[in-house]
Amino acid sequence: MTQRRAITIARGDGIGPEIMDATLKILEHGGAMIEPEFIEIGEKVYLGGHSSGIPDEAWESLRRTKVFFKGPITTPQGGGYKSLNVTIRKTLGLFANVRPNVAYAPFVKTKHPDMDLVIIRENEEDLYAGIEHQQTPEVVQCLKLITRPGSEKIIRYAFEYARKNNRKKVTCFTKDNIMKLTDGLFHKVFKEVAIDYPEIETEHWIIDIGMAKIADTPQDFDVIVMPNLYGDIASDVAAQITGSVGLAGSANIGDQFAMFEAIHGSAPDIAGKGIANPSGLILGAVMMLVHIGQPEVATRIHNAWLKTLEDEIFTGDIAKGGPSVGTTEFAEAVLARLGQLP
Ligand code: ATP
Ligand code: MG
Repeated sequence: MTQRRAITIARGDGIGPEIMDATLKILEHGGAMIEPEFIEIGEKVYLGGHSSGIPDEAWESLRRTKVFFKGPITTPQGGGYKSLNVTIRKTLGLFANVRPNVAYAPFVKTKHPDMDLVIIRENEEDLYAGIEHQQTPEVVQCLKLITRPGSEKIIRYAFEYARKNNRKKVTCFTKDNIMKLTDGLFHKVFKEVAIDYPEIETEHWIIDIGMAKIADTPQDFDVIVMPNLYGDIASDVAAQITGSVGLAGSANIGDQFAMFEAIHGSAPDIAGKGIANPSGLILGAVMMLVHIGQPEVATRIHNAWLKTLEDEIFTGDIAKGGPSVGTTEFAEAVLARLGQLP
């Protein structure tokens, strides 16, 4: 029998606990061989006076298990705190953020039924490096940091991902007509790395027209690699086009650590109402199971979840005015379909 794999889990803020509990139930019934270690991070920890939002025992668990399954964490807007999500990505060296966006047509309504793309977002540099200054009382500045090693690492990751997953094309988005040095370097490294992957088609779009193309003809894209900020925005847009931001999961990959989550935030506007879609976190869990060497369990859970959508059991965000169920009922529907699988 496979040994249970220790996993560090944070239930998160806002809708986090609701969607995490639903997802963990599905993992348990789906036969995932995991041993959860729960940590408390985020809003409550900040409010308790710990300025980084992450207590020592949480780091200790993360350093030991090396796999983090994370519910969404509220990032307080504006002054005061540094984003905890950014701190975790940087401390654990999670350089690649992998965000698949798939249309589930004809079941989930979308204008783009053939969409199946993967956004690979650089995760540590760019305007998210956290280098912000107050120059004068009326002038503030944020530095955009792009490095050759950082760019090469993420771009090579994108090409390797394409090769492994039998994807045919890698597209790069930058704004190198304006930011000639920073985005210029990213684009230059893209062209250099592409030479090592002659079987994969490549293209580059300036980010603004690239985003417009995602909105108009997402089926033309396969793998897309881009700097941090563009990737954040593009992946919310892409997920929404498939039907809802609640429909996409993501993997954050580093050399030693990995973190899995939903792409959306803590959705404070619907927290506590029991209506959040747990799908993004379920898909994050599916990616985690593949990562820790339990691909059969991943496939079972993925299939039960797909069958639930095929049976048109929808949470409010994708029901688009039609009949809908709450978080718990959705999870129970997935559990029932898990039971029916051969
Ligand atoms: P962050 O900065 O953490 O990414 P955000 O500002 O992008 O956060 P979200 O928390 O992702 O905001 O919420 C954006 C909108 O999408 C909200 O209206 C929220 O209710 C909705 N939403 C997000 N996640 C879900 C979900 N799982 N199910 C249903 N609706 C969701
Ligand atoms: Mg967001």
